[in-house]
Amino acid sequence: MEVDFLLIGQGLAGTVLSHRLISNGYRVHLVDLPQATGSSRVAAGLYNPVTGRKMVKTWEADTLFPEIEPFYKSLEKLLGISCLYSLPIYRPFVTIEEQNEWMGNSSRPEFLTYIASIATKAKLDYVHDPHGGVELRKSGYLDLVALLDRYADWLRGGHRLTNSHYDEKLLQLTASGVIYGGIEASAVIYTNGIAAKESMYFSWLPFSPVKGEILTLKMPIQSNKIINRGVFLIPLPDGSYKVGSTYDNVDIFSGNTEKGRAEILEKLGNLIPRPVEAIIGQQWGIRPATKDRKPFLGRHPVHRQVFVFNGFGAKGVSLAPYFSIEMLNLVTLGKEPQKAVNINRFFKYI
Ligand SMILES: Cc1cc2nc3c(=O)[nH]c(=O)nc-3n(C[C@H](O)[C@H](O)[C@H](O)COP(=O)(O)OP(=O)(O)OC[C@H]3O[C@@H](n4cnc5c(N)ncnc54)[C@H](O)[C@@H]3O)c2cc1C
Repeated sequence: MEVDFLLIGQGLAGTVLSHRLISNGYRVHLVDLPQATGSSRVAAGLYNPVTGRKMVKTWEADTLFPEIEPFYKSLEKLLGISCLYSLPIYRPFVTIEEQNEWMGNSSRPEFLTYIASIATKAKLDYVHDPHGGVELRKSGYLDLVALLDRYADWLRGGHRLTNSHYDEKLLQLTASGVIYGGIEASAVIYTNGIAAKESMYFSWLPFSPVKGEILTLKMPIQSNKIINRGVFLIPLPDGSYKVGSTYDNVDIFSGNTEKGRAEILEKLGNLIPRPVEAIIGQQWGIRPATKDRKPFLGRHPVHRQVFVFNGFGAKGVSLAPYFSIEMLNLVTLGKEPQKAVNINRFFKYI
C-alpha cells in the first residue's frame, strides 16, 4: 500500500492530524494499539479558555479557540455522531478580592469573548460560591472515547488503520520515505503520546509525564454547566458526572489509588457540599506533558522523513486542532511551525 503519511498512534493527536491531512487530500495510514489507560481514552476532554489558579487566559487562547468547535463539528458530521458538548463553565470566586479583580477583567476587551456573566453573590444552590463567580463561554468538553472509537471504525472502513503494536525496529527509512509492514509512505509522523519517549528518534525530547486520575460518579444535583474550581465537574448525558483530576509527576505508574480518589472527593466536597451517591468508575492515564509545557511539532534533524506531533500535556483538546494546521504546513509545504512549539528548540539535546 502506498500513502503520503504513516502515523503512529490514534489517540487524540493521531485522530486530529489524520483528519486534517485527509481533509486536505492526503492519503494516510495509521498504526495503533489502543490501551484503556491511554491518555486520550481517560481524559475528561475539557476545553476551557481561562485556566489556572490566577484565572488567566490560556496560552494562545485567541488563536486556538476559534478552531476548536468548527474542527470537532466537522468530525461529528463526517462520523454522524455527537461528541462535542459546548457548555458554559462556572467558576466560583474564592475571595472578595478575586471577585473585584474579575469585575475589572470583565470590561477588558481581551476577556469579553470568554466571559458570559459575573455573579457577585451566590448563584447556584448546589455550589459553594458565597462570593459569586464567573461564567465562561467558548468552553465545553469532547467525548474522546466516542470520537476515537467511531473514527477508528471509519478509518478501518477505508483501510486506513492497522490495529497492531508498532515495532520501531521494523521501520525502514528509504531514499523516498519509509516502509513499514508493507506500507510505503513519504514520511512517518509520531503521534504516539508518551510512548515517543522510548523512540530511537525522539527520546531526547524533554517530556515530563504527568499521571492523572479521574472519577465518574452520581450526585443528587442536576447541573447543566461545568463547575470548575480546584476540581472540575462535568455533567454527562446519562446524568452522571466526570470529576477530576489529579496531577502526579513522581509516582506515574501507580495506577488507580485510594489517595487519588480521596483527593478528588475532598476537593469536590469543598466545591459542591452534597453527598456523592455512587462512584461508578475510577480511571488513570499519563499525560504526554513537556518540560516547558508547550507541544512538540517538527521534523527530525537528521532523518528528514521522520516527524513528531506530540507533547499536548493536559490540554490536547484545545491545542490539537490549531496546531494540526501548522503541522500540515510543515509536512506538505516545508513551512516551519512557530518557535514556541518547534522541536528545533531542543536540538542542542541530541
Ligand atoms: C486524567 C486525565 C485527564 C485529562 N483531562 C483532559 C482534559 O480535560 N482536556 C484536555 O484537553 N486534555 C486532558 N487530558 C490530556 C489529554 O489526554 C492529552 O492531551 C491527549 O489526549 C494526548 O493525546 P495523544 O494522542 O498525544 O496521546 P495518547 O492518547 O497517549 O495516544 C497515543 C496513542 O498511540 C498508541 N501507541 C503508543 N505506542 C504504540 C505502539 N508501539 N504501537 C501501537 N500503538 C501505540 C497508544 O495506544 C495511543 O492510542 C487528560 C489526561 C488525563 C490522564
